Amino acid sequence: MIRNLAQGQRGFTSNAFLVAGADVMSDGTDPEGSVVDADGRTVLVDTGNEFDIVPVVERFVDDIDAVVLTHTHPDHVGNTDAVVDAFDVDVWGFDPDHQLVDHRIADGDTVELGANSYDAIHTPGHKEDHLCFHAPEAGVLFAGDLIFAGGSFGRTDLPEGNREVLIDSIDRILEAVGPDLREFHTGHGPSVTQSPYEDIELSARAARTM
Ligand SMILES: [Zn+2]
Repeated sequence: MIRNLAQGQRGFTSNAFLVAGADVMSDGTDPEGSVVDADGRTVLVDTGNEFDIVPVVERFVDDIDAVVLTHTHPDHVGNTDAVVDAFDVDVWGFDPDHQLVDHRIADGDTVELGANSYDAIHTPGHKEDHLCFHAPEAGVLFAGDLIFAGGSFGRTDLPEGNREVLIDSIDRILEAVGPDLREFHTGHGPSVTQSPYEDIELSARAARTM
């Protein structure tokens, strides 16, 4: 199960993905009110900001095992303290010097999210501590704010932003995921399940020309 818990929130928030081993959504049943008995590692990828995420988590799972951050912009991490308080979990991210990050994820590390193993890929350009997570077997990518649906790409006008570096990071992701990619999930906007590789190619082109 990969579910965006920030869906429908109007505040200044990123997407926040609950990733669990069990898949209650794929059989078409309404997940509202059902509590997943998840195998695998139940993880929040980013916590979002400016909404009460704890009851939303509890709608789907009894507990979570970890928080993993794509990067530490406020809209991605604002709810982290509340999640840590509620579930007594540790937080994983690229920069262990960041006050919210308990454990470092380095480039090339393997991270368990739900039932799959993901490769962590350091992808600066939007922010220096930015990570993407790619599960080669499942063909799933968490792209953070590196790229978005429809050939969009992350802002590079903020501190630590750098367009050339961002382009290199997108190229790295293209190489890592390959044309067999099945879907990717981004920090903002919809996930991409239709021709996701071609979508990232569009982003790579757009970042060079816009
Ligand atoms: Zn960001």
